[in-house]
Amino acid sequence: MNSAWLFAVRRHLFAAVIGLFSCLLLAGMPGRVLATEVRIGVLAWFGNQSAEEQWRGLDKALQSQMPGHPVSLHYYDMAGLEKAVVAGDVDFIITNPGHYVALEARHGVTRIATQKITPGQDSMFAVGSAVIVRTERADLHSLDDLRGKRLAATVAEGFSGWQVIWAELKARDIDPEAGDVEPLFTGFPMTRIIDAVDSGQSDAGILRGCLLEHLIRQGAVPAGRYRVLSVRDEGAPCLMTSPVYPGWAFAAARQTPEVLARTVLIALLSLKGTEAVLRWNVPADYYPVHEMLRSLHVEPYAFLREQRLAAQIRRYWPVAAGVVVLFLLWLLYTLRVEVLMLRRGRELSAALTARQELEENIQVQRQKMEHLSRLSILGELSCTLAHELNQPLATIGNYARSLTRRLQSGKLSDDAISQAAHEISEQSERAAAILQGIRDFSRKRPRQREDCDAGMMLGEIVALFRGMVARAPAIRVIDRLPAEEQSIHVDRLQIQQVMLNLLKNAYDAHSAGGQTNLPIEIILEAADERVRIAVRDHGPGLAAEDRARLFEPFFTTKPDGMGLGLSICKSIVEAHGGQLVAESPADGDGLCFSFTLPHGSTRHDQQQD
Ligand code: ADP
Repeated sequence: MNSAWLFAVRRHLFAAVIGLFSCLLLAGMPGRVLATEVRIGVLAWFGNQSAEEQWRGLDKALQSQMPGHPVSLHYYDMAGLEKAVVAGDVDFIITNPGHYVALEARHGVTRIATQKITPGQDSMFAVGSAVIVRTERADLHSLDDLRGKRLAATVAEGFSGWQVIWAELKARDIDPEAGDVEPLFTGFPMTRIIDAVDSGQSDAGILRGCLLEHLIRQGAVPAGRYRVLSVRDEGAPCLMTSPVYPGWAFAAARQTPEVLARTVLIALLSLKGTEAVLRWNVPADYYPVHEMLRSLHVEPYAFLREQRLAAQIRRYWPVAAGVVVLFLLWLLYTLRVEVLMLRRGRELSAALTARQELEENIQVQRQKMEHLSRLSILGELSCTLAHELNQPLATIGNYARSLTRRLQSGKLSDDAISQAAHEISEQSERAAAILQGIRDFSRKRPRQREDCDAGMMLGEIVALFRGMVARAPAIRVIDRLPAEEQSIHVDRLQIQQVMLNLLKNAYDAHSAGGQTNLPIEIILEAADERVRIAVRDHGPGLAAEDRARLFEPFFTTKPDGMGLGLSICKSIVEAHGGQLVAESPADGDGLCFSFTLPHGSTRHDQQQD
């Protein structure tokens, strides 16, 4: 019975020892129990290479604490690390306090440890910033003196490189976003800040806490060259302008098993060594970081900025409404101006069309008037026309009767027949030519210009005039134009009309008295690259005041005159690019009308010939 009892006690004792041993084994070698891969995402805020150097050794040290757990470090920038967390590519995250609180708020990561920056210091006192100025800047003593100054910082998203000092400035009512301070972002490395302050490019610069002391210790910066503004006296390891914030966080992703998190935490706390990457402590309270980021309205509190915008809109809506009303009024005004301009444009084009129609109408009426004027000239000359035609007809009649008489008396010789036939044909041709000229002159036809010979044209006009006028005064044509200059480019009918009008007036003037034994002269000569035609009579002439009104429509001194001839002649000559003028000849009586006409295109050909 005793031995059985003793055996049972011994058996239970053995089981207890085995259990205790197993527990000890579990506690001492956590890695062996959970052989899972440990993927750690690290924020590489200054490029992968520099981050690899910074965190070198952490993976091996951790792995040695967790045999069987392969540990790998993966480096990302801020956005990349967040993506990796969302995609589940990493189990743990090492990042700065600001980024950590953002990931915590957005993706539920949980800190399991906080980095101890300086040996011997609690993790609560690790991260902060110092604002440095050149020692000789007597005008700069505290952050308040930075109003209106330039302040060098690394990047706008940097935690200790910008945000912690931004928060300090804001607490003093200095708002960089309102331009109270002009930030100058230099990028990394942080030594660029020192260069900017040194060169005077900026008045002050933000350095991560303890960096200045570190650089002085290394001999990279001479001691006493820079001062730190608004130094805080809170037991910080170095001179700091900002409060000290918790160090970098080691956090577990939401999906990381709790047991693995515990294993890694135990391994982290068990690390030995003086390097910063191996020094971890229990997680610090990141509440001050939250507070600071909330005051700045930056991630994860950027939504407050939007709320603030909404609040501003609520506050300033009357102003905004006023602006909108003004804008609408301006829009209405612009639209009205547009409509008015369109309407005016339409009116203008209608007026232009009407004007065009009017001009066309005037043109038609002018042509009609020219035609009427031609008929009027014919009418005035028609009483003498009968006489003119009578003469060849009488001659023809005489020859016909003479032939009849000779035939009856038996004296009709071949010579007499031949002579009579010749005369009859000549006289009938003369009569036919007169009638043809009159028909041409009186017919209606569209205006057309052509090249013609000036001398020949004048000859035809004189013949036509003579044919139409009984007892026409002598007309002398003085042609001073060289043969190669004779070509003119004109509307024949129109120029015929002008010349007949001038000749008729000259004829009337001769009939009215003066030196009527002298001939009417037509002078043809060259004038300034054009051809000049002048008609001079030896009538009574015209008083100066009448001469001034000569070309007015309906000006006439004749009892049966219309007073339209000269005004039409004037417009015809002007249409040919010339001017019709009337002058009292210097050498005596009468009146001299003259005008010029353009040369024809064949003029030069003739010159070359
Ligand atoms: P009309 O011959 O029907 O009067 P014109 O326009 O041809 O119309 O001439 C207008 C007026 O100019 C004439 O009434 C006359 O007073 C004057 N006139 C024209 N030519 C001469 C001229 N050669 N000598 C004097 N007066 C002239």
